[in-house]
Amino acid sequence: MTFTKRLAISALALASVFALSACTDSGAGSPTSAPVASAPEFAAGTTMAKLADAGSITIGTKFDQPLFGLKGPDGTPVGFDVEIGKLIAGKLGISADNIKWVETVSANREPFIQNGQVDMVVATYTINDKRKEVVDFAGPYYQAGQDLLVLAGNPDKITGPKDLAGKKVCTVSGSTSEKNIAAYTTDIIATDTYSNCLGPLRSGEVAAVTTDNVILAGLADQNAGQFEVVDKPFTEEPYGIGLMKDDTEFRTFINDTLEEAYADGSWAAAWESTAGKVLETPTPPAVNRY
Ligand code: GLU
Repeated sequence: MTFTKRLAISALALASVFALSACTDSGAGSPTSAPVASAPEFAAGTTMAKLADAGSITIGTKFDQPLFGLKGPDGTPVGFDVEIGKLIAGKLGISADNIKWVETVSANREPFIQNGQVDMVVATYTINDKRKEVVDFAGPYYQAGQDLLVLAGNPDKITGPKDLAGKKVCTVSGSTSEKNIAAYTTDIIATDTYSNCLGPLRSGEVAAVTTDNVILAGLADQNAGQFEVVDKPFTEEPYGIGLMKDDTEFRTFINDTLEEAYADGSWAAAWESTAGKVLETPTPPAVNRY
């Protein structure tokens, strides 16, 4: 891992907000144990009071995205999104053992929040105006950018989305990636999860997989030597925590928690124990209390 980061610093850090890995480790790292508040007090009737009283929380995350949310052998997910979830739960007095993790794929995040199937979603979830019509977002807590994953050696010499004209690409339904790439090609396979796109890329059915650079970097790291990230992000993807629309108190509480985690080092520790095994530690983005 050290090799990867050293390589990244020398060769790529100046060119990119993130660095790619060629190492064989899954890169998931050992999760930190987020501090758990003892008997925190919240105003009656708030979501915080309800969750703290229940002593448990249900969080939606990805289960197939190395570095951010990847289901481990014991059934619980690991990754940076998972650590962000634990930090928020900890402030509610809820330990990691009392978090119920539910897999959310890109297309079902809004309905899962709207139907109350999850209390919040931390799942590489881009904040945008369309989604804000039906859910609210705390954050952002990370800023990604859409990119392309190609076969190692880049046989089609793809340097950006413009090179995809007339070529087939794989992405995920309901993602911003699907929407954004439609401006460049109409030949799109849209599946449920990004890991489903790796088979078509290996077989040559598609020329590229597209989504956020950090998701692609995790998949490249997990499949060492097989793929490479083009590393020319062409969109901005601010990651937010999705929650029930108009629950302003809960949104403010999560935003406060993120700012505290920026200030006390727990955000950086969460990064370093997960995505930071492969990617450089970024500066956290300013929280947007819209
Ligand atoms: N961040 C983008 C989105 O929220 C792409 C990654 C994903 O599908 O989770 O749609």
